Amino acid sequence: MNHSDKQKLGREAGTILAGIVHANKQLSPKEKISLPSQEMPSQDPFVRRNNMSEVALGYTAEQARLEAMRCLQCKNAPCIKGCPVCIDIPAFLAAAAEGNFQKSIDIIKQNSLLPAVCGRVCPQEVQCQLPCTVGKSLKSVDKAVSIGRIERFIADLERESGKLETPSIKPETGKKVAIIGSGPASITVAADVRREGHKVTMFEAFHKPGGVMMYGIPEFRLPKNIVEKEISSLKAMGVEIKTSFVVGRTRKLKDLLEKDGFDAVFVGTGAGLPKFMEIEGENLVGVYSANEFLTRVNLMRAYDREKADTPVANSRKVAVLGGGNVAMDAARSAVRLGAQEVHLVYRRTEAEMPARIEEVRHAKEEGVIFHILENARRIIGDENGYVKAMECLRYELGAPDDSGRRRPMEIPGSEFVMDVDTVIVAIGNDSNPLIKQTTPEMVTTKWGNIIVDADGKTSIDRVYAGGDIVLGSATVILAMGQGRTAAASINKLLAS
Ligand SMILES: Cc1cc2nc3c(=O)[nH]c(=O)nc-3n(C[C@H](O)[C@H](O)[C@H](O)COP(=O)(O)OP(=O)(O)OC[C@H]3O[C@@H](n4cnc5c(N)ncnc54)[C@H](O)[C@@H]3O)c2cc1C
Ligand code: SF4
Repeated sequence: MNHSDKQKLGREAGTILAGIVHANKQLSPKEKISLPSQEMPSQDPFVRRNNMSEVALGYTAEQARLEAMRCLQCKNAPCIKGCPVCIDIPAFLAAAAEGNFQKSIDIIKQNSLLPAVCGRVCPQEVQCQLPCTVGKSLKSVDKAVSIGRIERFIADLERESGKLETPSIKPETGKKVAIIGSGPASITVAADVRREGHKVTMFEAFHKPGGVMMYGIPEFRLPKNIVEKEISSLKAMGVEIKTSFVVGRTRKLKDLLEKDGFDAVFVGTGAGLPKFMEIEGENLVGVYSANEFLTRVNLMRAYDREKADTPVANSRKVAVLGGGNVAMDAARSAVRLGAQEVHLVYRRTEAEMPARIEEVRHAKEEGVIFHILENARRIIGDENGYVKAMECLRYELGAPDDSGRRRPMEIPGSEFVMDVDTVIVAIGNDSNPLIKQTTPEMVTTKWGNIIVDADGKTSIDRVYAGGDIVLGSATVILAMGQGRTAAASINKLLAS
């Protein structure tokens, strides 16, 4: 599919829409359910595997309106219960169906600060779209109202119109808040606290703010100009952003409170510590953590080989270990960097894969070769310390484990060797440990996640936390939800 196919889908939707508008009648629930669900126009897989541009091309206005018309305006709105930040989904869909996109975005923004991001990366199929009555009636979650795609369309429309307004700020209070990290949790806190007139300083370890949205999720899923726009609107509000500033090294958390005069601190440092397999050969040249690989490719723009100096291997055969979104992102990035073969190795079956179904489908369409019920046993190097192969084992599924998923069990004697020159380990991340190491009084779980109360407050007075550092690896929308709770508590504290 390409841009002309998008126009064709738009024209088809436009014809149906014109008929409905011309008839000037209210559609019955039965008629709404029988409207065609709108396909997302996307780049052709053979074209997109050679570029970093966004895969999804976005709805046309006609498609967005027609898709929104499928909503039944359920009184009990189960979709709202599925949304972690409780957006009034039927109301924003009703406005979109009328073509009143400004009203629609205004409704979304009452609860979500990053609609263009969430419309792209939220797992709607397990959140708002899962309980949707339309999907249930048609017996397929794929046929639910495409809430995320409509959200994305109206957020893009507003951004591209250049009419994005800087939120108004209350008179300066003279109070100061420090925010550690600049991912979605921190961005939410910064905006909500700044709006109350408090001075906000954000400290980010990397040279660019945005957290995983900037360094992890690839350009072809989330264009960086969208994240940059959100950051520039924070700056326009007067938020000061200090990059290349590692709290715990450049300055300790306690110093911010006791020496630098901050009245409150929010910790949103995420879960950026990669886990490894702990197998032989993981220190060979050509083994990356998915975090390192994706940071090189995204933040350091290694894919732009003609312009960027960032070193990244010119891989021929790549193995990616894992089955989550991070694994899919790494595999699909490796395809785009020109690898001849990319193998995704996962020790359970596809049914247990934590990655979004859409990401799995996109990875397959782009040529990633899936090896299910297999796992690496050791990585084999050549005489110069470079990866040359990987020994694997086959698995079968046993009884369910603590996570409820069936436990993978090695099949003895099933060893085989895979010819690869690069291995990317994408089996999960732990919380960033530096704050805990340099602030021993901070109470955490045994995995290093900061423990907070219902208000987002940590064990230290005037220190709040949220996002992945509290939840473990989670999602953008959950991080934002936690940021909102912590910001409300900080605002309450500073008002007293
Ligand atoms: C590759 C990848 C793909 C993903 N895909 C999706 C998806 O499709 N949908 C979805 O909803 N979620 C996805 N996620 C998860 C999502 O991105 C995270 O849940 C979310 O970004 C967490 O937000 P956060 O604000 O807690 O922290 P983060 O986004 O992790 O940001 C934390 C920031 O804090 C900085 N930092 C850490 N320590 C310090 C310090 N000591 N001093 C200063 N700064 C510090 C880090 O550099 C980082 O920029 C993905 C994650 C990854 C890694
Ligand atoms: S559950 Fe589906 S049909 Fe019902 S209000 Fe929500 S989006 Fe509309």
